[in-house]
Formats: sequence, structure tokens, C-alpha cells
Amino acid sequence: MKHILIGSCIVVAAYCNGFLQQDDVPSIKQTTVAPPVCINDLSSYANCDAVTTYHFHLDAFVDFTQSAIGGNQTLNMTSLKDGLNQVVIDYQGMQIISVLEQDQTTGAFTDLTSACTHYDDANLGSALIIPLKNTYLKDSNLTLRLQYLTNLNGKAMSWLTEAQTATKIMKYMFTQCEPIYCRSVAPFQDTPSIKSSYSANITAKNPYVVKLSGREREPTVNANDNTTTYHFYQDIKIPSYLFAIAVGNLAVQHIGDQYSRSSVISEPGVEFLERYANELSELDELLNATEAWMTPYIWGNYTILILPPSFPFGGMENPLLTFASPTIIVGDKSQVYVATHEIAHSWTGNDVTCRDWSNLWLNEGFTVFEERKVSAERHGIDFALREAQLGNVSLWEDMRVFGLNTTYSALYPVMNGANPDDSFSNVPYEKGFQFLTYIEQQMKTPADFRRFIQDYVLAHAQTSITLGGDSSPPNFQDYIKATDPQLKVIFLNRLLARSTEVSVKVVAKIDADLNCTGEPNPEIGQRWFPLTIQVGYGKALAKAQYYVSYQGRLKYLQPVYRALVDNGMRDTAYQWFLLNQNFYHPIAVDSIRAIVLQSHSPSQYTLERISYAMQRFW
Ligand SMILES: [Zn+2]
Repeated sequence: MKHILIGSCIVVAAYCNGFLQQDDVPSIKQTTVAPPVCINDLSSYANCDAVTTYHFHLDAFVDFTQSAIGGNQTLNMTSLKDGLNQVVIDYQGMQIISVLEQDQTTGAFTDLTSACTHYDDANLGSALIIPLKNTYLKDSNLTLRLQYLTNLNGKAMSWLTEAQTATKIMKYMFTQCEPIYCRSVAPFQDTPSIKSSYSANITAKNPYVVKLSGREREPTVNANDNTTTYHFYQDIKIPSYLFAIAVGNLAVQHIGDQYSRSSVISEPGVEFLERYANELSELDELLNATEAWMTPYIWGNYTILILPPSFPFGGMENPLLTFASPTIIVGDKSQVYVATHEIAHSWTGNDVTCRDWSNLWLNEGFTVFEERKVSAERHGIDFALREAQLGNVSLWEDMRVFGLNTTYSALYPVMNGANPDDSFSNVPYEKGFQFLTYIEQQMKTPADFRRFIQDYVLAHAQTSITLGGDSSPPNFQDYIKATDPQLKVIFLNRLLARSTEVSVKVVAKIDADLNCTGEPNPEIGQRWFPLTIQVGYGKALAKAQYYVSYQGRLKYLQPVYRALVDNGMRDTAYQWFLLNQNFYHPIAVDSIRAIVLQSHSPSQYTLERISYAMQRFW
């Protein structure tokens, strides 16, 4: 193995004397065959139906001279099926140096590196496909150790120069992992559908201070190479996107009396830490008020880290270490309520977590709802109503930018392989808030709904959940068993009625189960082919072309041609039409030509659906 191991190095191959070093590492072979995406989360390639991480241990060094993190990521995993012989891991912006599998009995490591392959996805980063030496039974444990070195393409890390910091004497690094960037900090099964505990030893040169979204143990000073190793652990299971690191010239100040659970971290000094602590003097009251409205706070302490001004968001709810922009420190405490939002995430988001990024509203909609309840108690109902009004304006602005006929304007955006960041906006926050407000109004009293939210948090504590979308109708299995063509048509009608919620993954599963693409019944083709064109299921396209060429019945032709034109495939529609126009009846030629050559607006059905949704949720 091409590892560097010199003298006092703590992490194999990772660093010596405070600097990362790397030997010539044979690169892992690339494959052009995409592995299946995660069955619970289209934004990850982790084979989470087969194997899940229950704990990870990160041993890493943060090197400011190269703006790189290097180290060993150890994944303790459980097989979810008999015969597990492959693991797929997400990574981005790093070189994988080695992949080791640990024998569960002897503890010895086997080097799997040369057998691994990687698949690169422009939106989601890379999938590392690891063929295992051993085969695992369901519920048995396995351990993988991946050695890696990040590069400047990593999307989670911001590396700041001295000049970009507040005190201007040391460099600074912080991460932003939500939604899919934890895979650039270390290799992970990077999906919110998986939650795990963790431990970490992070080393940096003195006098840098390291903070993580976990509990701290006493650091170890390594006198021989002028570094310090900071030790952290997190017993409460978290999704990978809540893993966070900040390294810089950092100091801590406790806020409030001896009973207070709150602290603030930032660069030291009267102008910074002391001023921030003064502005955030009510932090513990906010935590107590939110806890009183919700259920007991499970995380222990609550700390806000005020980042340098380049932090791209207002706040990020990393457990035990909320990241916040210094723009919330105005001087008159007028923006401190932003902290209420991050505190409320301790329940919805961090304890009960959305299973995938289409369900982000389960994090953000609930959290905005709770934030405004607490704000109303502290500042009066008019304050919360004004927030809701401002939120509604922002919501409409975002929906106009996206367009009203795209799912990105809906509570449940369909990603279809896009980076989930593309769909992030005020929609999950404000539409989620409005939806929950609507439900609250259907209850007898607001107290009933508050009890529901408390029960919901307790019932789903430390899990990742979904409320529909990629899960097919509840009686889906009955339809799969059915061979009756009428039942298939009824099923497809239901799918078409909710087609904006249908993903390629669902369509592929239905096709695998029902073979709709190969179905000779034209009544099925009439529904199936437009659906496959709409969601971009390319496998059915050749059959769709055959469908409009072997028969010329208008009822069957029109939906397919309309679907092509509506979904940006007018050229394809034109080409198919040219090939078949001598075969079609003149009436059909006129009708299809009108669809192909003239613009026509989205179907009436789509418009009705949008207006119905608006009546309900606005
Ligand atoms: Zn939030």
C-alpha cells in the first residue's frame, strides 16, 4: 500500500509535522455505468436499501497551507439483507487514497482499493462502488475505512484568508453540508434517510481551535509537531448534513446565569465575541420558551457560532453548534429572533428529519410554524403575523421565478436527478407554514394542533420520515398483482392525475412490475407514454414512437404528441410526424400538425390543479 507513515504521524498517510502529505496513489478506476440511486433519496448513490451506517469515526487533519482536509473515515455499518457484497459511498472534491474492509473477528484490514470503481455524476458528485471481500448476512455488522484527501473542488468547505476574517490574524475554515455537501468533507452514505452517531478526532496546527456539531472532550496537545487534536462525539443519531466543522481563531463565552445552557462562539475581542454575547443575551430565554412550547430539549447545551460575514445563510441548525451570520447582530436585538428558528430545528429537522430533499418542508415548514408560535408568545401575535405576511411575499416571488407549473413551486418538488439546491427556496418554509396553519384551523382549538406536533415529534424522534411523493398509492401492491387491463388503466389514470409528483424512479419501478412499455393494449399506451415523456423516462421512447406509427387513431396519437411538445421535445414530435404523415388520415394529419407546429398552452388539467392547490393553501 502506498501509505506514508513517518515518525510521529497519527493518521496513516494523512499528515506529518502539521502538513498533509501524499505519495503517488494509484487512482481508482472510473466506470460509466451508473449505480442505482438510493431507494429512499434520489440525491445519493448510497445503496441504503442494503446497508446502513450506524456510527462513523473521523480521524482527520485540517491543513491551512494546502486548504485541505485529509484522514480516515471509518464507517460502522449494518447489513440490511442477506448476501450483502457491495457498498456504494458518496464523495465529492477529494481523492480516495485507500479503501479497507475490517475483519469482524480478527480486526485485520483487507485492502479493497484496486477492486473499487467510481461513477461521476455532474449534479451529485461521485459514487464509490466497493466490492466487499466478505459476504454479510442480514443484521450483521461490517466496517470500512476510507482514507482520503480533499481538494479545492470540495463544495462544503469555505477556506478564508486572514483578511477575510474579523480579527485578521489567522485563517478560517467552516463547512456547510446541507443538502448534499457532507460528501466533500469525508466519504459518507450522504443521505438524510440515514442517521448515525459519530466520534471524531480533528487535528490542526496550534493555535487553531476546532469546533464540531458534537460534544467535546479534553483536547490532546501534540508537543512533537505543534498541533492539537480535538476530540468530539455525538450519541444522538444525526443525518450527515448536520455534520459541521469550524476551525479558526475561536473563543467561547457562556451566556446568562449558572443555569443557562447557552453559549456563543466567535473570534475573540470586545468588537466580536463580547458584542455578540451581549446581543444574544436572551438566547437561553428563547431556548426555554421553545422548549416550553414543544417537548423536552434532548441535545444538552445550545451554542451559536457567529461566522465571518461571508457565511451564505442567516443560520444553519448544526446540532450543539448553530452557525449564524454576523448580520443577525444588528445592535438593537431586532434580528435575534432568527435564532428562534434555528433553536426550533432542534425538534423538527434535527430530531425528526426529512428522509429526502423533496420533503424539506417537513424540516422547514414545521420549524417556521414553531418559530412563529414562540415569536407570538414573546413579541405578540402581530409580530408573528407580519412575519407570515413578509414570508408570503417571498413565497410568491420564488414561485414566479420558478413558474407556477413546475413542482419546484410545490410543497413536494420532484428533483429527477437535479442538485437539490436548485429547488431550495422559500417554498418549503412558507408553503409548509401555510399548510400547517391551514390544518391548525381545521382543528377545534390551536391547543389540539400543538399537542399533535408534540406527539409527532415524540413518535418520530431520531428518525427520518417522508409524507408521500415517491411512495406509490397505499394499495399499489393490489394493482401490481392485477392483470386486468381496466385496473391498469385506472391505476395509470391515478398516476396521471398526480403526475407532477411522479419521479423517474417510480415510473421505472412500475414498468419493471407491470411492463407498461411492452403492453399491447393501446388504452394503456395512451396514458403510459405521455407519462414517461413527462418524467423523462427515456427507455420508453422507442416504443412510444412505434405506438404513433403502427396505428393512426387520433385519441391515441394526440396525447403522445402533446406530451412531446409540452416537455421540450417539439423537434422529436416533428420528426415522428414527418415519418408518419403519409400513413395518417388527412384529419389526423391536420390535428397533429396543429399540435406540432403551433404553440399551445399547458393542459387545462394542470391549470385546474394549480388553482385548486392555491385555494386550499393560500
Ligand atoms: Zn430552517
